[in-house]
Amino acid sequence: MRSLKDISNEELLNLLKSWNQPAFRAKQIRAWLYGPRFAASYDEMANLPASLREKLAGGVAPFALNVVQTFTDPQDGTIKWLSELQDGNTIETVLIRVPQRTTVCVSTQVGCAVRCVFCASGRYGLVRDLTKAEIIDQVMLACRELGKRVDNVVVMGMGEPLMNLDSLVAALDELGSPETIDLGNRHVTISTSGIVPGIRRLAELRRPWNLALSLHAVTDEERARIIPTEHRYPLEEIFEACEYHRTLTNRMLTLEYALIDGRNDNHATLERLASIAHRLRAKVNLIPCNPNASNCKSPGVRRCREALAFLEQSGIQASLRISHGQNILAACGQLRQKRSEVRGPRP
Ligand code: SAH
Ligand code: SF4
Repeated sequence: MRSLKDISNEELLNLLKSWNQPAFRAKQIRAWLYGPRFAASYDEMANLPASLREKLAGGVAPFALNVVQTFTDPQDGTIKWLSELQDGNTIETVLIRVPQRTTVCVSTQVGCAVRCVFCASGRYGLVRDLTKAEIIDQVMLACRELGKRVDNVVVMGMGEPLMNLDSLVAALDELGSPETIDLGNRHVTISTSGIVPGIRRLAELRRPWNLALSLHAVTDEERARIIPTEHRYPLEEIFEACEYHRTLTNRMLTLEYALIDGRNDNHATLERLASIAHRLRAKVNLIPCNPNASNCKSPGVRRCREALAFLEQSGIQASLRISHGQNILAACGQLRQKRSEVRGPRP
C-alpha cells in the first residue's frame, strides 16, 4: 500500500474528488499529520467523516513505520526506535535530547553498500533505499514523542544518504515547507562517507544544509582499510567536492573522525588531520569508535581527550562526542544487527 507522505497533494486531491469529497479535506488531513498532534492514524483525525477515514485506510497508509521496539537510555533520555517497514525490513531512528535542543537522527537506507569495517549498518550490504515517506515519518516519530517540532535533523542513521539523494531531498524539502513543519535548512546536517558525485549534486541544489564528511583516515591507503568497497573515492577528489559545496552553499563542513585504537590516533596522523581541517576550514568531531560492531575499538578516554587538546592547540574548532545512548546501542545499525543475529539477516 502506498504511503500518504509519498503521494503528492494533487494526487490526494484527485483521490478525494473520486470519493466526492471536498478539497478542504486535504488541508484537514495535512493539519493532522504535521501538527500539533502529528497524527499517525486516521482514527486520530476526528473531524473527518468515519466513511472517509475508512476509505483512506483501505487505500493509503497513514504512517510508513510500525515501531516494534523502543529503548530509552535511563541516563541521558536518548530514545532509540526500531521500526518495521511495510516489507518487513527494519530501520533505526534516534532522538537525542539535551537541555538546549532536540535532535533526531534518521536512516536513509536499509543496510549500506559502503560497508565501513566498524559499522553495523554496512555489515550485510545494501538491502534497499528508503522512500520519502519512510524518511519523513522518522522525523514525525520524534515530533510525536516531543509533542512539538524537533529542532534539528541529522542524517546520520543507517545508510549512505548521498546514495539515496532523490528521496532524501524530497523528504527534506517537504519538511522545510511552511505547509508541514517548516524545518529550517540550517537545522539539517547530512553526513556522508565521501560520495563525490553526491556531494557535487548536493552542492548544486544550493540548499543551505550542513555537510559532514566521515573522514576517519588521512591517507588513501589507510582509508582503504576502513572502506573496502568500490564506493570509496580518492581523498583529493572528496576534498575538492567539499570545497565546491562550501563555495555554492556557504555552509561550514564538519569532519567526523572515529578514533580507532592504534590505527588513526597517532601524532603524525592527527597533525595531518589538523592540516586537512585547516585547508577545508572545517571543524572536527572526534567520535570514540564504538566497539560493538567489530574488533575496532576506541583508544580510551585519556587518549581521546589528548587528541582533542592537540587539535584545539592547532587552532581547529574540535569536539569530542561522547556518544549519547551508549546503553541502548545507539551507534547506527547496532540494534538492527542485534535483531538480525537473533532472527537471521534478511537477504
Ligand atoms: N553513511 C553516512 C552516515 C551514517 S553513519 C556516513 O558514513 O557518514 C554516521 C556516522 O557514524 C559516520 O561518521 C560513521 O562513520 C559513524 N560510525 C558508524 N559506526 C561507528 C562506530 N562503530 N563507532 C563510531 N562511529 C561510527
Ligand atoms: Fe555506510 Fe556510513 Fe556505515 Fe560506512 S559508516 S557503512 S557509509 S552507514
